[in-house]
Amino acid sequence: MNIVFMGPPGAGKGTQAERIVENYRIPHISTGDAFRAAMKQGTALGLEAKRYVDQGLLVPDEITNGIVRERLQEKDCENGFLLDGFPRTISQAEALDGMLTAMGREIDHVIDLHVDRDKLLARITGRRICRSCGATYHILFNPPAKEGVCDKCGGELYQRADDTVEKVGTRLDEYINKTAPLLDYYQAKGKLRKLNGEQDINAVTEEIHSILRGQAE
Ligand code: ADP
Ligand code: ADP
Ligand code: ZN
Repeated sequence: MNIVFMGPPGAGKGTQAERIVENYRIPHISTGDAFRAAMKQGTALGLEAKRYVDQGLLVPDEITNGIVRERLQEKDCENGFLLDGFPRTISQAEALDGMLTAMGREIDHVIDLHVDRDKLLARITGRRICRSCGATYHILFNPPAKEGVCDKCGGELYQRADDTVEKVGTRLDEYINKTAPLLDYYQAKGKLRKLNGEQDINAVTEEIHSILRGQAE
């Protein structure tokens, strides 16, 4: 089961990925999470990535491709993987095709979560993340039982530095200019499944399950 989640920032990729990987026991590979972890540790990669992430710009392809190439070699990817937020450019998609071909594998499903731009601002600015386990919440749409505290692990919730009104515009522009063209790329390969990401969280999860079970029309 080799899955790619696409969609603009705030579409619900991470939220759905958390649920899907629990069910299919495949690793959740988020390039955004990988950059944030490297930035927190202050590694050379983190310092380089920070120059872009802080501005809401995409990190250059060579750096991003390198992370994914290494990650896909790890043993836990043998039975499949869920890529969340990669690829985000045509050149990344081509690099991914090359990596998978070399491994004798291919993508099974590309799932595009569609959410209108005017809904994304509220989603992104209300997003909160658990510092300990990475779980995602929303102050209004998916609040934790106790404000500021993770339901799953009791960890502290925080707001990402790039989840501000100022950064959202740049990030959405990057999506439109560089990532949206990928939809045609996967459509042409017959891999793309579009999904209405504006439904409530459980309804979206159900639709993803039915696609993965091969039962959707
Ligand atoms: P979101 O959940 O809002 O879609 P992510 O956590 O996936 O955001 O990404 C956060 C930031 O990390 C992006 O704005 C970008 O700077 C960087 N990033 C993540 N994935 C990629 C990628 N595939 N290519 C380039 N930059 C990326
Ligand atoms: P992405 O990974 O695509 O950037 P997230 O999964 O982090 O998106 O979701 C962005 C924000 O919107 C989070 O605060 C999340 O709790 C919330 N959210 C996710 N899915 C939905 C949904 N279907 N309806 C309302 N809010 C949602
Ligand atoms: Zn937690």
